[in-house]
Amino acid sequence: MRAVTLNISEIFHSIQGESSFSGWPCAFIRLAGCGHGCIGCDTAYAESGGVKLGIEDVIEKALAFQAPFIEITGGEPLLQPAVHSLMRQLCDLEQKVLLETGGFLSVAGVDSRVHKIIDLKPPSSGVCDQNNPENIELALAAGPLHRHTFEFKIVIADKEDYQWATALMDEHRLTDSFTIMMGVAFGKLDPAELAAWMLRDRLRARMQLQLHKYIWDPALRGV
Ligand code: SF4
Repeated sequence: MRAVTLNISEIFHSIQGESSFSGWPCAFIRLAGCGHGCIGCDTAYAESGGVKLGIEDVIEKALAFQAPFIEITGGEPLLQPAVHSLMRQLCDLEQKVLLETGGFLSVAGVDSRVHKIIDLKPPSSGVCDQNNPENIELALAAGPLHRHTFEFKIVIADKEDYQWATALMDEHRLTDSFTIMMGVAFGKLDPAELAAWMLRDRLRARMQLQLHKYIWDPALRGV
């Protein structure tokens, strides 16, 4: 039988920087390949290339970091069907697994034990019209045991993004049930400006900075 492989960009140990888990040490498995073409993609190097690794090797490398969380990211991890087997095997090993996805593919089929961090891409991304509506539907339809395994992340670059985000949150009453992480697009928006908008509007969302970009050189890979 042929071993199941994944196309991997990098496997590394860092501080989780962009979710409600921000600040935790975390092992990252970055899958290669995307092609979605978001303006300002900060992992463009992972949009192509990569090396083929067997799932067992990937798991062994990630476990070696002994981190409290293992995050599967990309690129777009859901483009590789074998990622589901990877996530399932990590959950079976009683690892706390996070999935970070660009939000244009459906998270249907992701193991229910995995915590899903789903991007909602705003207008400045250039791909706002390609957010997969099924992800919000799936989150809203999740039962009380699984709702907490969904969270949404919106990286705000300007006022138009902010207005789009708040309209979407209102339309689906997202803040009633889910953690919404409002990120500041690094170098594009003054964090104080986003803070002022959120406080003015009494927004029930969490502001976040891209923590890893403040700790290390923002252009550095593997962090
Ligand atoms: S979905 Fe993610 S990896 Fe793909 S282009 Fe957009 S930001 Fe980059």
